[in-house]
Amino acid sequence: MGATVLLTGGAGYIGSHTLVALRAAGHDAVLLDDFSNARGDVPDRLARITGAPVTVWRGDVRDRALLARLFAAHRFDAVIHFAALKAVGESVERPLDYIDVNVTGLVALAQAMRAAGVFRLVFSSTATVYGTPEAWPIPEDAALRHESPYAFTKLTCEEALRQAAAADPRWQVGILRYFNPVGAHESALIGEDPQQPPNNLVPYIGEVALGRRPALRVFGNDWPTPDGTGLRDYIHVEDLAEGHLRSLEHLLAGRGGHVVNLGTGQGTSVLEMLAAYERAVGRALPHEIAPRRPGDVAVLVADPSRAAALLGFRARRTIDAMCASAWAFVSRRATGG
Ligand code: UDP
Repeated sequence: MGATVLLTGGAGYIGSHTLVALRAAGHDAVLLDDFSNARGDVPDRLARITGAPVTVWRGDVRDRALLARLFAAHRFDAVIHFAALKAVGESVERPLDYIDVNVTGLVALAQAMRAAGVFRLVFSSTATVYGTPEAWPIPEDAALRHESPYAFTKLTCEEALRQAAAADPRWQVGILRYFNPVGAHESALIGEDPQQPPNNLVPYIGEVALGRRPALRVFGNDWPTPDGTGLRDYIHVEDLAEGHLRSLEHLLAGRGGHVVNLGTGQGTSVLEMLAAYERAVGRALPHEIAPRRPGDVAVLVADPSRAAALLGFRARRTIDAMCASAWAFVSRRATGG
């Protein structure tokens, strides 16, 4: 029988795709979301994709009274915690807000879980916990350092969970360090839908393709990489969602906590990503070379071997599939679909 899973931030970009993956595997989920960075129609869209209504609790993960009611109303086998603030640049301006939402949110959730006797937790972490890496591909045992308040919050949450698990062996925690999630569900009904102007590469190229921005600014072409632009490990969000399913099932099978990278192991440059998006759109898109963006690094690529060995997880989808699905989603959204 399938598990019942609480997805905090479940209406967001990665949470929504994970709900689809869970249901396809015979599990079910309840969403907790405050809709601060998700559209109100996401639950209806999820119901259309999966063929069944979705239970949604609207609220803030820091709201302890709400959490107590939620855990009293449902018997959860596990929790996947996505709800968090995630813009690195914004975190530099609003560190206390990031610490409050991300760290206080995790602590409130974990305490509510403990009170309800739920000890399986999959946690959304990030490759930014590696800071500026010394070498790549990056294995999970590489040095960790925070170079932004955002990275600090994720590293603090990871450490809090490590300490909780060391103190109480009932905790089974899967920590998933995401590289660069992009793309959208094949239905084009859900995808990355930021409520603020996008800073990330693929949503920004989407804006250029829609004619809302004049040109992509390529942040530096003098990096020590083959074409001089930054290399990242882009992972299709549907692959990423499957990574969550594997992590969850590993915990449900009692095989223990883990820390794994979710990436492909392949580096793709800014110009290669732009070219893939141009193939998806079917025309050239304007770009210009701009100065390097503060805080960027040349290369960020995962060593995906632990995820393969431990969870049997391998990302399968190509860069072209990522860009085609991203474009299908944003172009449909732009016409009201
Ligand atoms: N990038 C760019 N122009 C943009 C946004 C991003 O050239 O408008 C580059 C950025 O410098 C990095 C890569 O695209 O090399 C991925 O950036 P993104 O913000 O998507 O993810 P990050 O790796 O910073 O988390």
